[in-house]
Amino acid sequence: MAAFEQLLEGWDGETAVVRRDRETNGWIFVCVHSTRLGPAGGGTRMKTYGTPADGLEDAMRLSGAMTRKLAVAGLPFGGGKAVIAVPELPTGERRRELFLRYGELVESLGGIYRTSSDMNTGEADMDVIGERTSYVFGRSIDAGGSGNPAGPTSTGVLHGIRASVQHVFGSDALDGRVVLVQGAGGVGSRLAAQLVDHGATVLVADVDSARAQAVAADVGGRAVAAEGVYDTECDVYAPCAVGGTVNAETIPRLRCRIVAGSANNQLASGEEAALLRDRGILYAPDYVINAGGVIGIVGLEQLGWSVSEVDTALERIGVTLHEILDRADARAIPTADAAEALVDERLRGAQPQTPTT
Ligand code: NAD
Repeated sequence: MAAFEQLLEGWDGETAVVRRDRETNGWIFVCVHSTRLGPAGGGTRMKTYGTPADGLEDAMRLSGAMTRKLAVAGLPFGGGKAVIAVPELPTGERRRELFLRYGELVESLGGIYRTSSDMNTGEADMDVIGERTSYVFGRSIDAGGSGNPAGPTSTGVLHGIRASVQHVFGSDALDGRVVLVQGAGGVGSRLAAQLVDHGATVLVADVDSARAQAVAADVGGRAVAAEGVYDTECDVYAPCAVGGTVNAETIPRLRCRIVAGSANNQLASGEEAALLRDRGILYAPDYVINAGGVIGIVGLEQLGWSVSEVDTALERIGVTLHEILDRADARAIPTADAAEALVDERLRGAQPQTPTT
C-alpha cells in the first residue's frame, strides 16, 4: 500500500478513486486529473498489470495526457482516465457484470468523470456501462452513440497535415506532395483516401503487407515495405500505427520535412522534439492533431453538437496548430514545447468549473 501513497503524493491530479473489485480479483482506478475546464473525460483501459500500483500509475499518467489533449482541442472538458486492472481479461457474463458494476461507480461520481473506450474496451462495453450511467460516450450507434471515432480522427489529422504543409511550403495545397502513411488501419486507411482526394501522392506501409497493398490499391497509392519507412523520401511522414516510432535511431534516417500523424506518443522519450527541430523537420504534436475522434464523440454525445459543428471544431485543429507552429518559430523552441505552453495558458486562464450533469 505504500506504493499507492507514494504515487498519490507525487501526482499533480485532483482526485483518484480506488475500488477493489473482489469479483474479478481486480482493481479499478478512476483518476480525475483536472476539472478546471469542465468534467474530466477520458477512456477506460482494461489490462493486466504486474502490480495494482502499476495500474494506478498508468491511470495517473494517462489522465494528465487527457487534460492536455482536451484543453488544446478547445473542448469544455478536463482530463481523466480509468484503469481496470484484472488478472485476466473477463469475457461473457463476467465481463458484462464487471462493466455494470463499473457503470455504477462512474454514476456515483456525479459527472466529474465521463468515460469512453481505450485499450481492451470498446463500443459494446460502453453500451453496458450506459445501462447504469449517462456519463459515458463512445457507445454504438444502435445504443445512441456516435460510432467509430476513426473518421473524425483522420479528418483532424488531415487538417493538421495541411496546416503543416502550409507552414513549410507556403501553401496548404497537397497537389504533388508525397505523404507516407505508416499503418493502414482504421485511421490510416481513411487518411490515405482523404489525402488522395486532395491531390497528394500517397505511400502506404503496414507490418501487414497485404493490408498496405490493399489500401494502396484502393486509394490509388503505392505500398512500401514497413521496414523501409524511415529511409523513404517523402514530404510528410504520417505515423498512424504505434507510438515511439520517432526516436534516436529513426530521426537521423528520416527523409521528410514534416512528421504529422495520428499515433499516440510518437516521440519515444519526448527529447526527440528538439532533435527534429535541429534537423529542420516540422513535428505536429500528436495530441494536437489526433484529437478529432474525441472531439467527434464528445461533441455529438455529450455537447449535443450537429455534424457541421463537429466539422468546424475539426477545422480548428489546423488553426490551433498554426498558432503553435508560429509560436515555436517566434520563440525558437520545439513545437512540442509550444504546444505545452498553449495548454498551460488555457488551463491558467480558465475559471475552475463546477461540473454539471
Ligand atoms: P488500428 O489498429 O486500426 O491500425 C493500426 C495499423 O498499424 C494496423 O493495420 C497494424 O497492422 C499497423 N501496424 C502496427 N505496427 C506497425 C508498424 N510498426 N509499422 C507499420 N504498421 C504497423 O489503429 P487505428 O485506430 O487506425 O489507430 C492508429 C493509431 O492512431 C494508434 O496509435 C492509435 O492509438 C492512434 N489514435 C487512434 C484514434 C482513433 O480514433 N482510432 C484516435 C487517436 C489516436
